Formats: sequence, C-alpha cells, structure tokens
Amino acid sequence: MIDTKGYAAQSAKSDVAPWNFRRREVKPKDVQIDILYCGICHSDLHQIRDEWGGSIYPMVPGHEIIGRVSKIGQQVQKFKIGQLVGVGCMVDSCRECENCKKGLEQYCTGGPSFTYNSYEQDRKTPTYGGYSKLVVVHEDFVLHVSEKLPIEAVAPLLCAGITTYSPLRHWKVGLDNKLAVVGLGGLGHMAVRFSVAFGAEVTMLSTSLSKEKDAKKLGAHKFVLTSDEARVKEVKGYFDFIIDTVSAPHDYNLYLSLLKSDGVQICVGVPPTAAEIDGFSLIAGRKSLAGSSIGGIPETQEMLDYCAVNNIISDVEVINIRDVNNAYERMLKGDVRYRFVIDMATL
Ligand code: NAP
Ligand code: ZN
Ligand code: ZN
Repeated sequence: MIDTKGYAAQSAKSDVAPWNFRRREVKPKDVQIDILYCGICHSDLHQIRDEWGGSIYPMVPGHEIIGRVSKIGQQVQKFKIGQLVGVGCMVDSCRECENCKKGLEQYCTGGPSFTYNSYEQDRKTPTYGGYSKLVVVHEDFVLHVSEKLPIEAVAPLLCAGITTYSPLRHWKVGLDNKLAVVGLGGLGHMAVRFSVAFGAEVTMLSTSLSKEKDAKKLGAHKFVLTSDEARVKEVKGYFDFIIDTVSAPHDYNLYLSLLKSDGVQICVGVPPTAAEIDGFSLIAGRKSLAGSSIGGIPETQEMLDYCAVNNIISDVEVINIRDVNNAYERMLKGDVRYRFVIDMATL
C-alpha cells in the first residue's frame, strides 16, 4: 500500500480536515497520478453532509482532478510518466453491461465505482477522491489533458464540464434552439459556454441580479431574474430546452411553464429533497422532464479535446486547501465566480 494524505470528512457533521490514508499499489493496468489541482463541486458538499443519504466515512471528496502521471503499471498502454491527465467522477465500472459497452459507464447497470463516497468493483474497498496528494486509477478511467490550456481552469471540466456538455450533445442543442440555463454556478457557467459555442440562443435564469453582467460576458444572450414576475411572464412558452443546474429545492413547475410544446427540461442539479411535479405542467404542451448524469469516458475525452481546440475553460478561484470549509460556505451563498479549485501544492 502507498501512504498518502488528504482532507477528509469523518462524519456528516464534521468539517473536512487533514487525514492520512493509504492507496493501493500500482497494478499492471494502473496509473499513479500526482494531483496538482482539484475542483470543488456542489456534489462534494451534498455528500459530505449526507444530504443524499448513504454517505461513506471517512470521505475524501473531489472528482475534478488534474495531475501528472508519476508511475505506470507494466501493461499500461495509453499513458507515459510525466503526462498531464485528468480523472473525473468515476474510477471503474463492470465493463460488460449494455451501457458500459456503449461507453456510458456512468449508467453501468451494476453501478460504476465513483471516485469517492463509493466502492471499487469488489463492492467493499472504499474509494477516496481528489482532495489528496495522489491517486491510483485503472488507465481506462484516466483522461488525456492538453498542455495548451491553464490546467487549474481545466479541472472543473472533469465534472461541471462533462455534466453540461453531455446532455447538450444528447439532445442536439444548437442552432435554431432557444435554451435556458437555470442557476449560474459551476455547472451553469459551463452550460452557458457550451450552448453558446453550439450556436443556441441562450437565456440565463438566475436568482442573483449581480450575475447579469457575468452571464452576458459568458455569452448568454438574455438574462432573466427569476424573482421578476414580469420578465418571467415574457418568457412563458419560449424555450425548446431548459438545463436546470439548481442545487437547492425549487419549483420545477415554474420552469416547465417556460417551455414550448414538446420542450424538454433537463435536470442535472440534484437537490436534497424530492420535488412535486403537477401532471398538468407536463401534459399541457406534451413536455418532458428529463435528467442526465455526468458523461461516459469516451465523451469526457471528446469534451476535453473540444475544449482544447475551442479554448473553453472554467472561470476559477484557486484556493489553499486550508480554506476549503470556508469555500463551501461561500458556495452555498452563491459567492463563487464560478468554481473553486484547490491548489494541491498547499496540502
Ligand atoms: P453551484 O456552483 O453551487 O451552483 C448552483 C446554482 O444554483 C447557484 O449558483 C444558484 O445560481 C442556483 N441556486 C442555488 N440555490 C437556489 C435556489 N434555492 N433556487 C434557485 N436557484 C438556486 O453548484 P454546482 O456545482 O454547479 O452543482 C449544481 C447541482 O448539480 C448540485 O445539486 C450538484 O450536486 C449537481 N451535480 C449533478 C451532476 C450530474 O451528473 N447530474 C454533476 C455535478 C453536479 P443563481 O445565483 O444564478 O440563481
Ligand atoms: Zn461534480
Ligand atoms: Zn457496466
């Protein structure tokens, strides 16, 4: 085993704090990665605080990992020592089910091994995430990262990026589509960047008037403050698609009313409590309420390559790992422009 250290939550009620732990030795198909940066996703907070239930402690969060290969197993073919690489939300899956065979490992029917708060495929060895010095991952779940972009701003692509890229591609959002993005946070700002790049007319629906300027700078064509009833009325029945990135309980029926007939509201945000949906919100206009989880490994690589070619990155605030608990409080208040990323050299 390899001795290492990180930051972990010991219970749903505790802050994350320094913790020494062990990683597995590098196996023939494994890549060992020295972690340089790790983004902070709202899912980290949901899971640390056990807001979704079933959290596993101690928990080392972090699934927006960028680092360099420091060691490889004898049978590794895709990576060399020194290469810049990424690890996102998954570190393994069964590889055999229908979804895995399609490159949709996130929907592995037996359940993928998530990067943290999860188990390896043996279903008993806990996984630990990226708020740590190093990680050991099977090469099939490691991504190539271009040297061209500022790497701290690439880290959030591993979750916030793929989680918004994947549904936009799946529903073929592009020219001729009117899309609304709900919630300007980590996921929301990437959804704006991608959908603008894909040619859609993009409206930001936000609770924060202070974000209007930023939304426009990101490329949004319109901004609607959701507490402004008159403005909201103007966009009733207006959108082909809504991508909903909200992390807290909110009224889905309100957003469904903004869709055209046959419109689709795509939920990527996962609030801690269930929402109430009125049947009439869906039947009037044959509307769909859909969801999407991260993205498979091939599509994650496609997204990273697309970002390298098109210069798409995340807006980040790089922090010292000592400030991580404070960063959570700021994220809860919407005080982040638009992703915190931990500089792992501070660990
Ligand atoms: P974030 O940076 O905190 O952004 C969430 C945004 O939601 C906020 O900036 C805010 O935007 C808006 N919001 C917050 N509370 C609200 C409320 N009560 N009503 C309406 N809007 C509200 O979070 P994130 O990292 O982007 O993650 C967002 C959600 O996606 C989380 O639930 C996370 O767990 C989930 N997630 C899902 C996947 C997946 O695979 N589907 C992957 C990653 C994350 P405004 O200030 O603009 O209103
Ligand atoms: Zn995430
Ligand atoms: Zn599978």
